[in-house]
Amino acid sequence: MSKLSVFLFILILMVSCQTQSQKPQWTIAIHGGAGNLDKNLFDEETTRKYEAGLSVALELGISMLENGASAVDVVEKVVNVLEDNPLFNAGKGAVYTNDGRNELDAAIMDGIDLNAGTIAGVGDIKNPVSAARMVMDKSPHVMMVGKGASKFAAENGIEMVDSSYFYTEKRWQSLQKALQKSGKNGTVGCVVMDKKGNLAAATSTGGMNNKRYGRVGDVPIIGAGTYANNKTCAVSATGHGEYFIRYTVAHDISALMEYKGMSLSEAAHTVVNGKLNSEAGNGGVIAVDKNGNFVLEMNSTGMFRGWANSFGEKGVAIFKN
Ligand code: ASP
Repeated sequence: MSKLSVFLFILILMVSCQTQSQKPQWTIAIHGGAGNLDKNLFDEETTRKYEAGLSVALELGISMLENGASAVDVVEKVVNVLEDNPLFNAGKGAVYTNDGRNELDAAIMDGIDLNAGTIAGVGDIKNPVSAARMVMDKSPHVMMVGKGASKFAAENGIEMVDSSYFYTEKRWQSLQKALQKSGKNGTVGCVVMDKKGNLAAATSTGGMNNKRYGRVGDVPIIGAGTYANNKTCAVSATGHGEYFIRYTVAHDISALMEYKGMSLSEAAHTVVNGKLNSEAGNGGVIAVDKNGNFVLEMNSTGMFRGWANSFGEKGVAIFKN
């Protein structure tokens, strides 16, 4: 071998090592809802509370991923933490329907085999995303709703609660306000690429404040508010669900990558700030691709969000800039 070919060989080796090391071992992104948030309502203490709520969930995800947990386990457990925090509109902090009840929706999807589980319109399951996980793991179905979903969850050992568990003064008051005007967001979600390169997404919500009873949003509609596919990306959305359903937002992002060869950020931007806008489809998405890249794309003034990867990048934020 000539000196030149040895040199070229080493150079190619170095470049390929560097390319490989550009992919993080794992990546996680979370959200706690998006909307046109009013900065005046966020004094230092309120901001700190939201950031702390996001950080606790993010840290759990980071330690699980460091320890080699699967993407699907991570998205479920991280969403559980957000569901238990009354600040967010999911689980404990769910908003009310127009007639003063809580009807929760949730979804989980595994990018390995497109297996998915979702539940909708339940008012007695403490952690709806875990019931969705049961639907995925223990039933031949993808979606279960209402009483049937609750019965199935109870039979499978999911923690059931009295509907009074979901009472929070803040959400009750926002229903009272919304009965005069419009409502608030605050759905939660998590997307992950784990150490094996597998992707998963989970989303959980109380839905839209003051929604008509029986209304189901985008969250439990696979391809609208939640989607994961190892070939492309994992997406969890938050915002005005009716638009996210019409535009099949989460799957559209994946399809633009798969069929048009777009990058994750191009695809997310095209959908969230192209097809949707802050009037028709106010909200955002978090997403991670198969190379561990992540996006936090919104068309609203804010989205409660957090992100981290194995390179040590990490943060939480509320407002757009
Ligand atoms: N997308 C949810 C729904 O329409 C609400 C939200 O994300 O705030 O049910």
